[in-house]
Amino acid sequence: MPSSRGIHIRRDCFDKAMLEQAMALGVEVLCDRVIGLEITRNRATQVRLLSGTKITARHFLDGSGRRRAIGRHLSRNQSYSPPMLVRTGVIEEAAHHFTSFSTSFSPRPRGWLWCTPSIYGYFTWTKLFLPGDRNEHELRNLTICSSFGSVKTADARWRISQPLDVDGVLLIGEASGYLDPAWGQGVLHALQSGILAAKTVIASICNPKDQEYLRGAYDKWRLKSFLTAAAALRSAYVESDIQLKIPEV
Ligand SMILES: Cc1cc2nc3c(=O)[nH]c(=O)nc-3n(C[C@H](O)[C@H](O)[C@H](O)COP(=O)(O)OP(=O)(O)OC[C@H]3O[C@@H](n4cnc5c(N)ncnc54)[C@H](O)[C@@H]3O)c2cc1C
Repeated sequence: MPSSRGIHIRRDCFDKAMLEQAMALGVEVLCDRVIGLEITRNRATQVRLLSGTKITARHFLDGSGRRRAIGRHLSRNQSYSPPMLVRTGVIEEAAHHFTSFSTSFSPRPRGWLWCTPSIYGYFTWTKLFLPGDRNEHELRNLTICSSFGSVKTADARWRISQPLDVDGVLLIGEASGYLDPAWGQGVLHALQSGILAAKTVIASICNPKDQEYLRGAYDKWRLKSFLTAAAALRSAYVESDIQLKIPEV
C-alpha cells in the first residue's frame, strides 16, 4: 500500500531518460509497433512491425504492458479480482479550495483515494472504484474539478498471464501481470523483471541445453512474485476494511 511519502515521476521524461541510456549502451531503437508473431515448431521466431519490417531473433522480451503485443498470442490472461476501475486527474488546489499539501492514502468502503502533491499548486488524485460506482459523489466531484484533459480511467482488475508453452518469449512488466496502482511497485516490478529476463536470455545463449529449464524458472519467479504481492495487497485491504471481494490467492 502507498506510504505517506512518494516520488512523482513524469512519464515522458522517465521514458526519454531510459531510451537515451539504452542507446548510449549501443541498443538499436526502432519507433514502431509489433503487430504479429511467427511461431515455428513451438518457438517464436519472428515479429512483424507496423512498418512492414520483420525481426527474426532467438529471444523476444514482451514489455508492451497490458496490450501484451506478443503474449496475447501465447497465453491466457487470468483475472484474480472482480472488475475494478481506476481514475486519475490533476486539480489546481487554489481554484477549488482543496488542501492536499502532503501525500494521503484514504481507504473507502469500496475502494480508495490517493492524493499526491504535484508542481505549481496542483495535486494528482487517483481513485479505485467498482464499475457500479461511476456516479458516486466523491468521484464525480474530483472529475468535475480536474484540469481539462487530465482525467483518465483505466481497468484495474488484477490479472496475470499464465505460463507460456512456447520457447523464445519472456513476459516482463505488466505484460506479465498487474495489480491495481495501490500495489505501488508496478514500475519497480517492470524494471526487476526486465533485468531478470535479460539475465535469463544471456544464460540461455550460454547454455542452450538449459533453455527450457531457464524459461520455466523465470516463469515460476514471475508467478510467485505476483501471487506474493497479490496476497499482501489483499491482506492490506482486509485490514483497512476495504470491501472489494477479492478471493484469497
Ligand atoms: C493510475 C495509475 C497509477 C499508477 N501509479 C503507480 C505508482 O505510483 N507507482 C508504480 O510503481 N506504478 C504505478 N502504476 C503502474 C505502472 O504505471 C505500471 O506498472 C508500469 O508503467 C508498467 O510498466 P511496463 O513497462 O510493463 O508497461 P507500460 O508502462 O504500459 O509500457 C508499455 C510500453 O509498450 C508500448 N507498446 C504497447 N503495445 C505495443 C506494441 N504492439 N508494439 C510496440 N510497443 C508497444 C507502449 O506504448 C508503452 O510504451 C500506476 C498505474 C496507473 C494506471
